[in-house]
Amino acid sequence: MALQKNIRELSLEDIKSEVAKLNEKSFRAQQIWDWLWKKQVRLVDDMSNLPKELRNYFKENFSFHALQTDHIQVSEDGTQKFRFKTFDGHFIEGVLIPTSTRLTACISSQVGCSLTCRFCATGKLGRERNLDFDEIFDQVAIINQKAVEVYDKKITNIVYMGMGEPLLNYKNVMRSIHFITLPDALAMSPSRITVSTAGIAKQIIQLADDNAKFNLALSLHAADDLKRSKMMPINDNNNLESLIAALDYYFLKTKLPITYEYILFHNINDGLDDIQNLTKLCRRIPSKINVIEYNTVEGTNFRKPDEKKFEQFIAALEKNKVNVRVRRSRGKDIDAACGQLANKG
Ligand code: SF4
Repeated sequence: MALQKNIRELSLEDIKSEVAKLNEKSFRAQQIWDWLWKKQVRLVDDMSNLPKELRNYFKENFSFHALQTDHIQVSEDGTQKFRFKTFDGHFIEGVLIPTSTRLTACISSQVGCSLTCRFCATGKLGRERNLDFDEIFDQVAIINQKAVEVYDKKITNIVYMGMGEPLLNYKNVMRSIHFITLPDALAMSPSRITVSTAGIAKQIIQLADDNAKFNLALSLHAADDLKRSKMMPINDNNNLESLIAALDYYFLKTKLPITYEYILFHNINDGLDDIQNLTKLCRRIPSKINVIEYNTVEGTNFRKPDEKKFEQFIAALEKNKVNVRVRRSRGKDIDAACGQLANKG
């Protein structure tokens, strides 16, 4: 049997021609489009104002690769971790992170990850496959529905910081953002979206050439090649020199500031030399740095520094006029924090 086309691969024009083939009234096409993108149904049968024959036609002739929510865990701090099941039986995770000012959806871009950052639980899983654009979209739509249900508010921010390296699934990530920002779909502002990369220089240049309007974050974790390569083997082929050149180019083209993510590890990247290297890097182009509290991942030797060291590190950066923010991890008790997503829940 020939593979059926995914219904969400259809453009509005495609749907119009399908509807015309069936001699149905043309406004049905817009209705179907709205069900798919504006109302975000995940079953053709939920398109309740369509005639049954029309629903049957789309059910029989197209596939619908919707995500299902398999399990939700709620942390004592309100963070909710979602385990989603894909149409072909894979599991991925997304997180709803509530703070006093924001409702953030942290979403995955791949099933597992091909990179092997030493401190990360996802990296230990290996990469199974890329997520399709509509599977990435579904995570946002489902987490948004939960936010509305619990808080009576839509999500305010989206971060591509869950499982996977977004820039190694470039096309699907860009296409998911197209629909997340589409006025006819989720209508989020690109300025509310952050894509976080472990650092693929070539793809950062591509983002600049594609005139990306969302925010870019680089998981830096060390401003020194030797240290960074030890933590993140991707640095061997994408060293700091190449990343800095790519970021300079990105800023030149987009005029958008960069965010550096920096998980602070005891006795690894929390020294005076690290402060100096970071300060130098942050002075190149407009940027801010998020210093992130580490959560222990079983099977690694990484630890977080004690509170005093943590505070001293931040104070030294502030003294150097670096734009620094502290990110305390949330959802620790349910393994929903940074670097902990590994389908354990
Ligand atoms: S930190 Fe991100 S890029 Fe690195 S292994 Fe984990 S999921 Fe992959």
